[in-house]
Formats: sequence, C-alpha cells, structure tokens
Amino acid sequence: MKHTNEMEIRFDSRSENEGFARVAVASFMTQLNPTVEEVADVKTAVSEAVTNAIIHGYEGRTDKVRIRCRITENVFCVEVSDRGKGIENVQEAMQPMFTTKPEQDRSGMGFAFMEAFMDSVEVDSRPGEGTCVKMEKTVGKGREIWTTQSL
Ligand code: ATP
Ligand code: MG
Repeated sequence: MKHTNEMEIRFDSRSENEGFARVAVASFMTQLNPTVEEVADVKTAVSEAVTNAIIHGYEGRTDKVRIRCRITENVFCVEVSDRGKGIENVQEAMQPMFTTKPEQDRSGMGFAFMEAFMDSVEVDSRPGEGTCVKMEKTVGKGREIWTTQSL
C-alpha cells in the first residue's frame, strides 16, 4: 500500500491569514525533504490561490477558506477551496493576464503562476457555490538521478 498523510485547515478569509496559510502548508511539506526551491514554488502557488479566494471568492466578506493537503509517496497535493461567488468561465479565467479586477491593479497572473510552479492545476468552480483549486507537485524529481549517478 502507498504511504499517505493528510492535513486540513480552515481559517477566516482575512488577508492577515495569507502568511499563516503559506507557512502551514510549507511546514507540512517538509516531511518530503523538499529543496528550498520546491518549498518556495508551493508557497507561491498557495498564496495565489488563497488571495484569490479572499479577494475574488468572498470579495472582502469574512467566511472560511479551507486547505487540504495530501502526501502520497513523493507527490504533494494541495486543495484551496472557498464557498464564494465562483467563476463563470474557468478556461477564460485561467488565461494569463485575464482579470475581472483591473481597477484594483490585479495583473491576472495568479493562475499562470500556479501553473508555472506546480505540475498540475485543476479548477472546479460553480457560480454562486464556490471554487476549489487542486494542485499537485512531485517533490524530489531529479534527486533519484543524482543518487543513481553517485553510486
Ligand atoms: P493577480 O492574481 O495577478 O493579482 P487576478 O487574481 O485577477 O490577478 P488570477 O489569479 O489569474 O488573476 O485569476 C483570474 C480571474 O479568475 C480573477 O480575476 C477572478 O475573476 C477569477 N477568480 C480566480 N479565483 C477565484 C475565486 N476563488 N473565486 C472567484 N473568482 C476567482
Ligand atoms: Mg489572483
């Protein structure tokens, strides 16, 4: 059987919790013995998803953001969910530079960063019901090659 480990946190959709969410996920991830770069990638992706839940999902209203993390061997999976307003057209929303809040100096690059820093990003969203962003990253890619070569 594959080795798994899970955690879940729920917190208020306040911007002061963005740092908490980033650090909580990074701290859970350390058991995979990640590189500094791998941790930075996951922190950036989680930050973007949490910020989106707070500013787009809830639009300043206080409700709960949920993060679930699951480790399956060396694959790290993180889901960021809100019960906010949802996304009408997910494909359009994920395009680089697409934003519905240009007046707030948003550049529309959040999903592009998530896709760049993680191996996969899946968005499940329903208008009026909320959004779930599921991201995965295999940690320790390339380290096996180094081990084999150094034998
Ligand atoms: P940036 O992330 O660069 O500050 P942005 O947040 O507008 O700008 P993305 O993170 O790529 O850009 O998101 C694109 C668009 O998708 C947003 O403008 C918003 O309309 C929609 N969106 C993203 N996440 C959510 C969410 N959790 N709930 C509702 N809408 C969302
Ligand atoms: Mg964003």
